[in-house]
Amino acid sequence: MSNQNNRIIIVGAGPVGLTAALALGRRGIPNVLLAAEPELVMELRGSTFHPPTLDLLDEFEVVPRMIEIGLKAPTWQFRDRESGPVATFDLSLLAADTNHPYRVQCEQWKLMRFLEAELRELGSDLRFGHEVTDVRQDDEAVTVTAQTVSGPVQLAGRYAIAADGARSAVRRSLGVEFDGFTYPELFLIASTDFRFEHTLTDIAYVNYIADPLEWLVLLRVPDLWRVLVPAPENADRNKLLSDEYLQNVLQRVVMRAQPYHIAHRSLYPVHQRVAQHFRHGRVVLAGDAAHINNPLGGMGMNGGIQDAFNLADKFQEIFAGADDRLLDRYDRQRRTVAVEAVQQQTHRNQQIISERDPQVRKSSLDQLRRTAEDKQAAREYMLRSSMIASMRRAAEIA
Ligand SMILES: Cc1cc2nc3c(=O)[nH]c(=O)nc-3n(C[C@H](O)[C@H](O)[C@H](O)COP(=O)(O)OP(=O)(O)OC[C@H]3O[C@@H](n4cnc5c(N)ncnc54)[C@H](O)[C@@H]3O)c2cc1C
Repeated sequence: MSNQNNRIIIVGAGPVGLTAALALGRRGIPNVLLAAEPELVMELRGSTFHPPTLDLLDEFEVVPRMIEIGLKAPTWQFRDRESGPVATFDLSLLAADTNHPYRVQCEQWKLMRFLEAELRELGSDLRFGHEVTDVRQDDEAVTVTAQTVSGPVQLAGRYAIAADGARSAVRRSLGVEFDGFTYPELFLIASTDFRFEHTLTDIAYVNYIADPLEWLVLLRVPDLWRVLVPAPENADRNKLLSDEYLQNVLQRVVMRAQPYHIAHRSLYPVHQRVAQHFRHGRVVLAGDAAHINNPLGGMGMNGGIQDAFNLADKFQEIFAGADDRLLDRYDRQRRTVAVEAVQQQTHRNQQIISERDPQVRKSSLDQLRRTAEDKQAAREYMLRSSMIASMRRAAEIA
């Protein structure tokens, strides 16, 4: 392999691809990042960063900047829509387990901008307008074909990381199954600058709210509250996103005389899926390309960033001469926690807040209440919900 091709090709400039590129660059591993779009995408998607992800991101010295433009969330809640708080989880109980015993609420596109700036400072090879369509490999190298405005181009590398999101072209090109299911309802989000905390004075910045008819999530980002509710999958999309429909959703949260100012709106199907394998020869899947889950628990991007750091450490060893069977360990570690922890917990959160059977509903809310009231049980619960337990579990996997 020529020196020029002794590099890692990263596909996708979402939070996971950018993290992988920077972590590799800082470890001295040559890499090129290919992104389909002409510039970074600024979608309002992930916004919750969990403690162990912040611990990892400390390597880039970005966390103080994220806190400066974001919010520290020291607590989060399960609530009942009728009766109010059920369980408030105080992350300061994790002070001995992390350098960041809180969540940071900061939109993922803001982190992406920081990472892009760091990559440019490092002189990294970032190529926008490169939509990858095909990946081939042999014993020596991986070759990626990308569409550009000037036509198709081919790039060769020693390995490739597919961080090209849920519809990953790389995953499809490899023919990898993405097993799981799609929720029957759609998820509808309306963001507003209305200060819900002035009326619902006991809410936290992150609230999962149970209701047999319309569960919801109330999530604060620096300038807005995001309200997430389920919506019928067969309803007319334009109707669901209309002012009238969204005003009704928001008025059901807090009734007020004036209409709400709606800053953003989105509607999307939600899946729980994990790729059959995360390693395919010289290609590894990371982030949403490898696993997707519902947003109740804020684990998708966090898990993807954790994948990226895990891979950077493995590639550092491989480029220093270690056997690349280390990538099988990446598969075992990260796929196991995606299945056992992330899929399981996010689905459980959805079940708890959407439960309709009064007895099951009461029993699971009572259980949460008891857990939050007992310091030891609360700490153990938060180790899992903050993804610290899954990081520790992955580290134990040989
Ligand atoms: C409403 C919502 C709220 C969420 N909240 C949270 C949260 O609070 N916490 C959390 O952890 N997660 C959250 N998530 C999930 C989170 O947004 C995703 O897990 C995260 O974006 C995954 O990052 P990624 O880099 O793997 O993929 P993406 O962010 O999807 O990035 C993939 C990139 O690859 C590019 N690409 C795609 N195809 C190609 C191709 N063929 N060639 C080149 N480039 C390509 C895309 O354009 C994109 O830029 C939320 C998601 C949604 C929708």
